[in-house]
Amino acid sequence: MSRKKIIAGNWKMNKTPSEAVALINELKPLVANDEVDVVFCVPAISIIPCIEAAKGSNINIGAENMYFEESGAFTGEIAPNMLTDVGVKYVVIGHSERREYFAETDITVNKKVKKAFEHGITPIICCGESLEQREQGVTIDFIRQQIKIAFLDITAEQAKTAVIAYEPIWAIGTGKVATTEQAQEVCAAIRVCIAEIYDQATADAIRIQYGGSVTAASAPELFTQPDIDGGLVGGASLKPEFGKIVNYK
Ligand code: PEP
Repeated sequence: MSRKKIIAGNWKMNKTPSEAVALINELKPLVANDEVDVVFCVPAISIIPCIEAAKGSNINIGAENMYFEESGAFTGEIAPNMLTDVGVKYVVIGHSERREYFAETDITVNKKVKKAFEHGITPIICCGESLEQREQGVTIDFIRQQIKIAFLDITAEQAKTAVIAYEPIWAIGTGKVATTEQAQEVCAAIRVCIAEIYDQATADAIRIQYGGSVTAASAPELFTQPDIDGGLVGGASLKPEFGKIVNYK
């Protein structure tokens, strides 16, 4: 089964809107590669100017978060139809920083995943273990639980189009990349879990990224593993180096 790679940048809380536009313009020629899906998930305030800046290129602009209600008294939140109205097709859901600092749980992740699909937005669903969990040998059990809850009430047809980002928390922003074997092992286990929830066809279709201190040096080996279909990249997506990551081959 050949799956198109998806390489996404997560800009987190970086860059003002005008800096974001300048960065899109700088990266545009460097990431011009139609063989992979290229996405930049940017701060909400920069989504519209970045979409404008990316027009006519292969760059997709995504969101870093979204709320699970349609509208109403939820001060500070962004509704799904606000994203679709401006052409957003991808949203990061349940990043470990949102789980840690903004009290997101597996349950809210599932609500957001359901809502994203209702609106035709592709969720990039994040999962990943802490260092303590890895050292205790419970990584796969923990990730399986995160995946099973994230996909509650999601149909196989929807799941086939989802993106999962496996991001060991200890590797995010730390410069510590998981070894290729560690990343492949967990991504393969996630695919097995999807096959158990749905069927092999769904497991074969879903795209699973690795994330955690990916660089131009580590991308080629990571992205050519059988169960790794690209990456979710933080720090290096803010630099010209991201062009090398997209063109990892
Ligand atoms: C991320 O933000 O999802 C991430 C993986 O960050 P970094 O690449 O900087 O570790």
